[in-house]
Amino acid sequence: MTFPPLREELRGLEPYGAPQLDVPVCLNTNENPYGPSAACADDIANSVREAALGLNRYPDREHEELRAGLASYLTADTGPDGHTITPAQVWAANGSNEVMLQLLQAFGGPGRTAISFAPTYSMYPEYARDTHTGWVAGRRADDFGLDLGAARDLVATERPSVVFLPSPNNPTGTALAPAVIGELCALVGDSGLVVVDEAYGEFRRGGTPSALELLPAHRNLVVTRTMSKAFAAAGLRLGYLAADPAICDAIRIVRLPYHLSAVTQATAVAALRHTDELLGQVATLRAERDATVAWLRDQGFEVADSDANFCLFGRFADRHAVWQGLLDRGVLIREVGPDGWLRVSIGTPAEMTAFRTALTQVTGDLR
Ligand code: PMP
Repeated sequence: MTFPPLREELRGLEPYGAPQLDVPVCLNTNENPYGPSAACADDIANSVREAALGLNRYPDREHEELRAGLASYLTADTGPDGHTITPAQVWAANGSNEVMLQLLQAFGGPGRTAISFAPTYSMYPEYARDTHTGWVAGRRADDFGLDLGAARDLVATERPSVVFLPSPNNPTGTALAPAVIGELCALVGDSGLVVVDEAYGEFRRGGTPSALELLPAHRNLVVTRTMSKAFAAAGLRLGYLAADPAICDAIRIVRLPYHLSAVTQATAVAALRHTDELLGQVATLRAERDATVAWLRDQGFEVADSDANFCLFGRFADRHAVWQGLLDRGVLIREVGPDGWLRVSIGTPAEMTAFRTALTQVTGDLR
């Protein structure tokens, strides 16, 4: 027997994670490069101090104040015919990673299957593995859009309990049309959940609606969001979902008691008071994203359409050499996605200049 006595299927596996290297330009984990202001940090610090005075007690298990804040934030993003999202429709956890793990703990499990369409976010199969849920990945079309016919077929054959539909998708940046999401919700019906992962939702281009608009029409639809990306709070670890209250109630069965610390709740509630400031650079980042896509195409690269704060570009015969060449010049991007492609997060103008300069040198050297 080898030690430690790890589950058979976990033996020899590497922990998931992007390299955390200390380099001048980090464009590899899709964070917002603009941090909170000193005034916002002070307000958060005051709230945390208040929470610290009560740290001898467990926090609010149902995180009610936070759910109310998140519900009103989401209500503002329900489109032209808007509807109200109530606190009972919201559930939060330590990152949307944990939200999705809880979804599979409650709705996946042995004998059940979760599906998605590759290329897709590489943590989904890990949530499935960790909850003993079956995992099947269909394929996206060549332009990384969803082929509705193929998606229908996969749902019909697999009868999934959970369908993960990231929109905008990671690593491609592609968003889904609401009609596709609605059709899949109808097809899956009451026997499963359709989870639209909108981690990058706030970066979507004008004219791309949020799946939040579809919530009143489909009780099996779950929309997940995070404060890690547009909200400029990756260090906070706060993700959340909006769904039918019965779904939130079911998650309460599997969540660990007091899973959101008093410090986390205080920080998130305080950060929500500064929504306008924290989201203040989203328009700048979207413009920088569009400029980056245009520049890469001008250089002759293929670039996936992006509604996110990153873009996937290629194709390279040896993408690792390009990744390494950039790193040697102090620019860290991500070697992820289909072979031949690389992903770059959108940073500040100075960081994007460094990226463009380094890429021009590296690809010049490799030619
Ligand atoms: N979904 C997608 C598509 C992501 O890219 C990420 C982070 N890279 C997450 C979810 C998880 O984010 P977090 O746990 O920080 O909310």
